Amino acid sequence: MASDCIFCKIVSGEAPSEKLYETDHVLAFLDIAPVHKGHALVIPKVHYQTIFDFPAALGEDIITVMQIVGKAVMQTTGGTGLNVGQNNFRDAWQLVDHVHWHIIPRFAGDGLKL
Ligand code: 5GP
Ligand code: ZN
Repeated sequence: MASDCIFCKIVSGEAPSEKLYETDHVLAFLDIAPVHKGHALVIPKVHYQTIFDFPAALGEDIITVMQIVGKAVMQTTGGTGLNVGQNNFRDAWQLVDHVHWHIIPRFAGDGLKL
């Protein structure tokens, strides 16, 4: 755990979040500033900064949780599309230094081009 990391605090329960799903190694929760309703984040419970630190062996768990959560947020919001995104380093707008995947439901004509 990184002591100054908000996502580590969410994992430990020290900070609140709207949890959607979890496994032994992975947690999914709603983004606090959603691009669209249902915008979720999927993270490893252990702190890794970027995709380059993240152990590939955890990739299967991450993909499985993204599929479960992606389907759930599409169903609950009525989304008809889904973006999955992941930012590394400040120049790519990584603002939280705990590797994470954005899961963003999309809607016909919503006008957002990522
Ligand atoms: P990044 O720009 O690093 O890819 O995205 C970080 C995301 O984390 C942003 O979409 C931001 O809204 C979200 N976020 C930042 N702090 C918190 C928090 O305390 N709780 C939750 N649920 N999301 C957060
Ligand atoms: Zn962390």
